[in-house]
Amino acid sequence: MPARIAILGGGVGGTLAANLLARKLKDQDVQITVADRTGKHVYQPGWLYLPFGAESERNLVRNERSLLDKRVNLIVEDFSRIDMERRLLVAESGAALPFDYLVIATGSRNTPEDVPGLAEGAYHFYSAEAATQLGQALRDFQGGTIVLGVGGLPHRCPPAPLEFLLLLDADLRRSGKRESVNLVYTYPIGRPFTIETVSDFITPVLEERGVTVETFFNPETVDPQQKQILSLEGTTLDYDLLIMIPPHRGAEVISASGIGDEQGWAPTDRHTLAVQGLERVYAIGDATDLPVSKSGSAAHFQAKVVAERIAAEITGKPLDEGAGLYNGHVMCFLETGNEQATTLNFDYDHPPEPPRPSRIYHYEKMLFNRTYWYIVPKGIV
Ligand SMILES: Cc1cc2nc3c(=O)[nH]c(=O)nc-3n(C[C@H](O)[C@H](O)[C@H](O)COP(=O)(O)OP(=O)(O)OC[C@H]3O[C@@H](n4cnc5c(N)ncnc54)[C@H](O)[C@@H]3O)c2cc1C
Repeated sequence: MPARIAILGGGVGGTLAANLLARKLKDQDVQITVADRTGKHVYQPGWLYLPFGAESERNLVRNERSLLDKRVNLIVEDFSRIDMERRLLVAESGAALPFDYLVIATGSRNTPEDVPGLAEGAYHFYSAEAATQLGQALRDFQGGTIVLGVGGLPHRCPPAPLEFLLLLDADLRRSGKRESVNLVYTYPIGRPFTIETVSDFITPVLEERGVTVETFFNPETVDPQQKQILSLEGTTLDYDLLIMIPPHRGAEVISASGIGDEQGWAPTDRHTLAVQGLERVYAIGDATDLPVSKSGSAAHFQAKVVAERIAAEITGKPLDEGAGLYNGHVMCFLETGNEQATTLNFDYDHPPEPPRPSRIYHYEKMLFNRTYWYIVPKGIV
């Protein structure tokens, strides 16, 4: 009987894990199946550029099948429960997928409903649809106060709100409208970014760009009629346009299976990526409770570790400890506007030291955005 490996979620992490496993286990009796609710693979980093008209939604979606090794099966199904007793993924439709090994790669979801009034009162760019609506709102905007902030931690791609802010500032300056706009940035903790070294880097940049920063700002309610946002800390801000990254939670399937913490993140070992208390079950990417950025980059490095570990378990070959343990590595870019960017490269033990922004990093990011489809899901980098 073949070893059955199920990968729940065909995003960045799930697709790469499946393709690497197919390659590593090509001589073994295995069945590798990716289960994805849409069958579409979305490149979310491109959403940052949609509101500025600098990207098209069409470039950001591919059929998952086209990205998978031909030895990997794809099931398009919304699985609602992981039945650990029977080792089955179960769907409301009655579909079931048995597994010996499971990789949970279900990503994260926006939950604007966690803040009353947020869905009605705020724009954001954390889905293609929302980013398109925000683009229209920016084109219609006649000046006044734009409050841009983070609705809760953790959320996907921690640098993205700052990137959006700096791109917006540059865009307003280019079109001669910056003088008529008051930009306010809000963040839930006592500095403008979770990691101290990045905060130290970004604080003078925000000052130089004339952005007012409101720290310790956790949105409690939004009043779309009065155009006001109130924080749990008791601060009220008036806005003309509100851009707020919605709070995030893990996929429903994790909570429905009794696996997740109160936000629905799977409790995951920091190094082995095994889900605590479950045998032969791993989690990668946004779905985990790991203390690293919810990013495609983290999902990418974690997929390699999980593929290494499962392949070693199946073949019985000794585990390469270097490749089979995750060290918290994340590497991403932070756009600072005016065709410049910096990089954030770090792991559990080494915080990022962002270099001076330059055009080189910006163009590296642009190149990565274009080449993603050919290199990341296929495991070429
Ligand atoms: C605006 C924005 C900018 C970003 N920029 C960057 C960046 O520059 N660099 C970077 O590294 N990261 C960036 N990210 C973050 C990155 O896109 C995510 O962290 C990454 O996609 C996470 O990968 P994942 O595999 O964990 O989940 P995802 O890629 O989200 O994939 C999850 C998959 O699981 C499927 N799924 C969920 N539940 C079920 C279910 N019950 N049954 C079946 N299928 C299911 C979904 O359909 C989806 O296909 C950005 C994100 C946003 C929103």
